[in-house]
Amino acid sequence: MVRIARVVPEVSLDRAFDYAVPAELEEKVSLGAKVRVPFKSRELVGYIVEFPREPFTGNLKPILEVLSTRAFLPAILIELAQWMAQYYCAPLTVALMSVLPKAVRRADAAFKQRLWVEALTTTLPDETATALKKARAQLAAWEHLQQNGPGWLADLSQVCSPAAWRGLAERNLISIASRTQERDPFLHSPVAESAPHELNAEQVAALKVVGEEMVAEKPRVVLLHGVTGSGKTEVYLQAIAKVLALGKSALVLVPEIALTPQTVEHFRARFIGQKVGVAVLHSHLSSGERHDQWQQIRSGHARIVIGARSAVFAPLENLGIIVVDEEHEHSYKQEESPHYHARDVAVMRGHLERVCVLLGSATPSLESYHHAKEGKYRLVELLQRVEEGQMPVTHVLDIRSAKKGEPPVLVAPRLIEAIQTRIDRQEQSIIFLNRRGYSSSLQCPQCGYVEMCPNCSVTLTYHRQASRLRCHLCEFASSVPHACPQCGFAPFKYAGSGTEKVEHALMDAFPKARIARMDSDNMRGKDAYAKTLGEFAEGKIDLLVGTQMIAKGLHFPRVTCVGVINADLALQIPDFRASERVFQLLMQVSGRSGRGQVRGEVFVQTRAPFHPAIQFARHHDYAGFVEQELAFRDSLHYPPYERFVLVTARGRNEEKTLYVLDQLAKEMGRLDLPETEITGPAPAPIARIEERYRFQVFLRTRRIMAVTPRLRPLFMDRAWPDDIRITIDVDPVDLL
Ligand code: ADP
Ligand code: ZN
Repeated sequence: MVRIARVVPEVSLDRAFDYAVPAELEEKVSLGAKVRVPFKSRELVGYIVEFPREPFTGNLKPILEVLSTRAFLPAILIELAQWMAQYYCAPLTVALMSVLPKAVRRADAAFKQRLWVEALTTTLPDETATALKKARAQLAAWEHLQQNGPGWLADLSQVCSPAAWRGLAERNLISIASRTQERDPFLHSPVAESAPHELNAEQVAALKVVGEEMVAEKPRVVLLHGVTGSGKTEVYLQAIAKVLALGKSALVLVPEIALTPQTVEHFRARFIGQKVGVAVLHSHLSSGERHDQWQQIRSGHARIVIGARSAVFAPLENLGIIVVDEEHEHSYKQEESPHYHARDVAVMRGHLERVCVLLGSATPSLESYHHAKEGKYRLVELLQRVEEGQMPVTHVLDIRSAKKGEPPVLVAPRLIEAIQTRIDRQEQSIIFLNRRGYSSSLQCPQCGYVEMCPNCSVTLTYHRQASRLRCHLCEFASSVPHACPQCGFAPFKYAGSGTEKVEHALMDAFPKARIARMDSDNMRGKDAYAKTLGEFAEGKIDLLVGTQMIAKGLHFPRVTCVGVINADLALQIPDFRASERVFQLLMQVSGRSGRGQVRGEVFVQTRAPFHPAIQFARHHDYAGFVEQELAFRDSLHYPPYERFVLVTARGRNEEKTLYVLDQLAKEMGRLDLPETEITGPAPAPIARIEERYRFQVFLRTRRIMAVTPRLRPLFMDRAWPDDIRITIDVDPVDLL
């Protein structure tokens, strides 16, 4: 009887295909193996996802070659991909490809081979010594090698000429051989080992709960709600130490590594003395580095993995814990198909592997908090800052103009005063604004004309440094008109404000202060964040101005003043989570203040001083906020009480796009889904991006687990009309 292997080839189809396992490959195949198979008239690489039991009659094509010496993909990741494909309504191949990084899948993916030079003897035979006296370069090379030990030929060629090394090799005095060099992204950033802190009572209680779940038969998810500066990271570190002691491995997810270099440093510093290997996966790795890190993990050399979203698929075996730091962060949601949420995938992975999942945040998402309240998750809380650190005092500054026609306040006098005091005391300030650029838009004071992006339905943002108008959704940029294109009035007026404008205002107010700006405009380079943050940590910068990029996880004890220029921007976004986001943001931002000995202050500028998100944040009242917000969500049937599915159609032709989505909505309606309401199609809040019209259909359901498997077939392997793109997003976080 022929053994059958079910293979998912690397093409975008929602299918696996069966192949026969030839007798000579019988020994080599395994679940998760990478294989070469015939596919139509081509050959493709694929992965074995199953060995079906049912007997096969008929003619199967054979597997041509097994490309991996052992199971390439751990079985658990195959299972996870299959779950994602179902839940997020994505093709199986797409789900499987997102589990395996491209750098590892590539045909030429391999460790880097370089030439390594080693001496074969330590003494020179007499006649050779005489001969070398005439070959001075070779003698010098020989002596260098004896003194400094072996090395890479490329490096040694900087010392002596390549010819000299080859000469020595010809005399059989040294060997030059190919060897694997692992690309280590940390080669140039050593850290000093850090010792564990003695835990305070709250931390002890939290760690105890984690310890219980770690050894439980069916572990429950633990939600760690800890205010900023309460020592959550220390709890993670000590939980991981326990896991290592059990001989297991640990996976840590953080929102975006480039923005939180300090977190990674903490983990490396704590475990660097132990021979466990810490792998780091993030978006700034080169393809080669990514490949090497993955292989390090797969081979078991790295037992701690820290990474952003896609690290949830790290091929670790024998997992002991999965930590998701800042679990409320929206960057855990993948923007392309499959639109997975890494926190939810982590919970699923923990469930499949029976591993404890620890979710941590100062402001847990309402979804996770709701699960904890319902008893599905275990809740532990750290409500005090470590070492009697106090929460900062928050001042809400009302910046509504007192008189009509008065220019709006950019930086309120009280904030200016507070910054001045910090400069005098040699403390630091962080000024935060959720908008880059100089002004948000260009508006004609006479006719009201606003300069819009020709491709997207949003206004253009003025960037002073580049002297350009830019669209933040597409790459469009144009020069700044001198007069209004509509009525000819000059000069144009700039409305709203961005980081650049605030930076200039602060430079005017504090001509002697050292000011730095951090936003995605000026932080493009690989090391730009690390450099600026390093200078800030060393006290070379007094004032840091930036977007949310600086709101997260940073720990600078000398920061005692934080200013929020405009808390309202995010409240105006047409999204039911706007309030939650603003609350989280204010809590995060204020968490940057007063982390040292001196109590911090936070100044929040707003035109909606009595908005609940602002008031609850001011009192650091998470429980109060969620209670009110959950009641509101419940009454409106929003998540976490009901779940959303968002179907979006995009196309250049407005009517056609709407028509296609309308037909699809009708098909969805005919499915007669249980306890589900379908609304739309309607234009998306941002009705056009990159010249494409956008329409949405919303599904709102109490029975998501029953709904997605039935919706899925409507989307699989389906040919939509040319130029129309349809996406389905389960549990969307971006509704625009
Ligand atoms: P969080 O992640 O909750 O904002 P951190 O874990 O960054 O807080 O902790 C803040 C600071 O307190 C860090 O510098 C950390 O080393 C220190 N720390 C944590 N736990 C303790 C403890 N039990 N005793 C003393 N210092 C601690
Ligand atoms: Zn645009």
